[in-house]
Amino acid sequence: RASVGPKYLSGLNPEQREAVETLDGPVLVLAGAGTGKTRVLTTRIAHILSQGRARPGEILSVTFTNKAAREMKHRLGQMLGHAVEGMPWLGTFHSIGGRILRTHAELAQLKSNFTVLDVDDQVRLLKQLLQAENIDDKRWPARMLAGLIDGWKNRGLMPSQVPSGEAAMFANGKGGKLYTSYQERLKILNAADFGDLLLENIRIFREHPDILRQYQQRFKFILVDEYQDTNVAQYLWLRLLSQAPSSFTSPRLRGEVDLRSKSGEGDSPQTELLDPDPLSASEARRDPASGAREPKGPTKNICCVGDDDQSIYGWRGAEVDNILRFDHDFPGAKVIRLERNYRSTGHILAAASHLIAHNEGRLGKTLRTEDQDGEKVTVTGSWDSEEEARGIGEEIEQLQRQGEKLNEIAILVRASYQMREFEDRFVTLGLPYRVIGGPRFYERAEIRDALAYLRVINSPADDLAFERIVNTPKRGLGDATVQMLHDHARKRRIPLFEAARAVVETDELKPKARGSLRDLVAQFDRWRAQREVTAHTDLAQIVLDESGYTEMWQKDRSADAAGRLENLKELVRSMEEFENLQGFLEHIALVMDRDGGSEEDAVSLMTLHSAKGLEFDNVFLPGWEEGLFPSQRTLDEQGRAGLEEERRLGHVGLTRARRRAKIYFATNRRIHGTWSTTIPSRFLDELPAANVEITESKGGSAWGGTGGYGASRFDDMEAFGSSYSTPGWQRAQANRNRGQGGRGGGSRGGFEEEASSFSSSSSSPDFGSF
Ligand code: ATP
Ligand code: MG
Repeated sequence: RASVGPKYLSGLNPEQREAVETLDGPVLVLAGAGTGKTRVLTTRIAHILSQGRARPGEILSVTFTNKAAREMKHRLGQMLGHAVEGMPWLGTFHSIGGRILRTHAELAQLKSNFTVLDVDDQVRLLKQLLQAENIDDKRWPARMLAGLIDGWKNRGLMPSQVPSGEAAMFANGKGGKLYTSYQERLKILNAADFGDLLLENIRIFREHPDILRQYQQRFKFILVDEYQDTNVAQYLWLRLLSQAPSSFTSPRLRGEVDLRSKSGEGDSPQTELLDPDPLSASEARRDPASGAREPKGPTKNICCVGDDDQSIYGWRGAEVDNILRFDHDFPGAKVIRLERNYRSTGHILAAASHLIAHNEGRLGKTLRTEDQDGEKVTVTGSWDSEEEARGIGEEIEQLQRQGEKLNEIAILVRASYQMREFEDRFVTLGLPYRVIGGPRFYERAEIRDALAYLRVINSPADDLAFERIVNTPKRGLGDATVQMLHDHARKRRIPLFEAARAVVETDELKPKARGSLRDLVAQFDRWRAQREVTAHTDLAQIVLDESGYTEMWQKDRSADAAGRLENLKELVRSMEEFENLQGFLEHIALVMDRDGGSEEDAVSLMTLHSAKGLEFDNVFLPGWEEGLFPSQRTLDEQGRAGLEEERRLGHVGLTRARRRAKIYFATNRRIHGTWSTTIPSRFLDELPAANVEITESKGGSAWGGTGGYGASRFDDMEAFGSSYSTPGWQRAQANRNRGQGGRGGGSRGGFEEEASSFSSSSSSPDFGSF
C-alpha cells in the first residue's frame, strides 16, 4: 500500500508525482498547456492536508480567478473524499491581498470597511483631481493617468518611488504629484483601488516586520497557478511572504529597483531559522507513515506552476520574466517539466505547437499526447461576421444532434464586441448560452433603458417599461409622482401611461411636474405616429435623441459614458436585422427571458483572455483577421512583443480544445458601425497544413458558392503560406492605416475575472480601439 500511495496520487505520471510530493523548498512546474499543472497544484494541497503537513488555514494558494478557486476547492473535496472546510487563503491575489489589508487597514490610513474602487470610480476620481489642477482632460485624459498609476502599482512603486522621468510623462511633469494626491484622496474617501490591495500589503510588510513575520509563519505552503502572468507587485508580495521569518531585513527586499535588477548580489538564501515554528513540526509528526522530512520551519515552501507560452497579460503589467527567473529568485528551486498533454488530440496539439513556434521569445518545449490524432483543426472563411455567426450556430446545432453537450462547447472571441452577433444568433436558434466574464449585451443598463422607451411606444400598457424611463433622464418626475400615477392607474384599472395622460388634465400634480409629464405623453404620441412612416432603426435613433437619453450620456462625465453611447449605437444597428420594431422587441423578449442559470446546459461565450486555464471538448475561434486578431493595436505598435503576445493568445485559444478546434475568419466585418474589408489573420499562415482542414462556411449566402476564399484557395498551402500571405500582407499594411480612432487608456484593467468584466462598456479592457 505504501508503494502505491494515497488514492489521489494514482494516475499521476512520475513528473507530476514528483511535483506533488516535493513539499519542501521551492518548486517550479514549467510546462505547456494541458499537462496537468493545475491538477498538480490541487493534488499537492490534498497531499499536504492528508499528510498533516499543514492545516487548511496555513496554505496560501493563489488562483487566477475566483471561479478557479471555487473549482479547486471542489476538486479537493473529491480527492480527499470529504468537503474541505475552510481554505480561507485560497483565492486570487486581489482577494487575498484585500483580506490582509482589511485586517491591518489602520496601517494604511484606512478603516477596515474600506471600499474597493472599480476602474470607473478610479477614473472619475482622477478627473476631479485633474480639474482641481486645471489640467485639460482632453489633452491629458484621466484614463491615461489611471493607466500610468496602474502600471506603477503593478510594478510595486509607491508615489515616492516612481522614476522621475516617468512621473514627468503626464501633464508636463505633474504625473508624480497627481499620483500622490490620488493616494491621499483615496485615504480620505476610505477607499482603495485594485492596485492598492497588494501595494499596501507590501508597504505594511516592509514597515512592520512583526506583521510580515506573522504571515510568514502562518503560511507553511504557498502555491501559485498561472505564474507566468504575475506582475512585479505580485512577485514582491510572494517573495516577502515566502521568506524565512528571519530574513525580513534582507536588503534585497528593501528596494525593488535592486530586486528587479536581479544582480544576484546578496542573494544568499536565508534558510537559517531564528524562529522555528513548533506547530509545523508537530503536525509533521502526526503522520508517521508519511515519511515526510521534518519540516525545517516556514521556509520557502513555494510551488509555482505556469507556462511562458501562455503569458497573455503583458499589457496589464505581467512579467513573464518572473517565471523565467524563478530558480534565480528562489535559489535551490527544483524545476519540473511536464511534457505529456492530457487534454487535446494530436492534430490540435500539433497546430497549437506549430503556431507558437513562430515566437522568438520563448523557452521552447516539447508537448506530446498519447491521444489519437482526432479531427483536424478546421479553418472556415465567411463573407461577413453575420455569416460567421450563422455558420457557427449551425455547426453547434449539428454537434448537438450528434449528442455533444452544450456545456462542452465554447466560443472564444478576441474582443468582447464580437459577442453580440453570437448572442443574437443563439436567441434566434433557441440555443442556451452564457457569457463568462461580463454581462450579456441586452442586460446592460443603457440598453435596458433604450429598450424601455421602445417598449412603451410599442405597447402603452407596458407599465414596467414606462416606470423605468419616466424619470430617465431626470425630468422632475420623482417617486411621489410615480406613486400618484400608480394610485390613479389602480383605481381606474388603466395602464400607467394612460393614467399619466389623464392626470395631466387635472391639477393633482404641481405645475412643473405636470408640464413635464404632459410633454412626455405628447412625445410618445408623436413617436407612435412617426412609427407608421419611419424605419424602425431611424425611429429608435430619434427616440434616443429627442428623449434626451443620448444627451444624458453625452453629458455624463463618468468614464464609462463613451462605452454606453457605443452600446446604444450597436443596439440601433442590431435592429437592422429585423423587419420592424415589433419583430425586434419579440426577439429581445426572448433574450431577456433566459434565466442563464449556471446549471443549465449552455454554450459558453467569452474572450480568449478569460478562457485561460479552462477546457472544452469543442472550441470555436471566430474572427481570425488582421486588425482584430492580431489586434489593430499590436499591429500599430513597434516591435514584436505585442504580436508575440497575440500569438500566445492564439495558442491559449487552441489549447483549450479537447477534441475539436474550429477557426473562422470573415472577409467583411463591421466595427462599431463601419464596414471594413479584412484579410485573414497571419496566424492562419502559421498553422501546419498537415493538421488543418479548410472547410466551407455553413452560413449559407453567396459566399459558400462563389469559391472565393473557399478550399481551392488553400489547396497548395504550406501552412497556408504563399497562397494569400503576400497580397494579403500588403492589404494589411494599407488596412493598418485606416485609422481606428483613439485608443482608450492603454493598459487598463480591472483584474481577474470578476473585475475585468467589461462591466458597462462594451469594450474589453485592452480593446478600447473597437
Ligand atoms: P493549462 O496550462 O491550460 O492551465 P494545465 O497544465 O493546468 O493546463 P490541467 O488543467 O491541470 O492542465 O490538466 C488538463 C487536463 O488533463 C485536465 O482535464 C486534467 O484532469 C487532465 N490530466 C492531467 N493530468 C492527468 C493524468 N495524469 N491523468 C489523466 N488526466 C490528467
Ligand atoms: Mg491550468
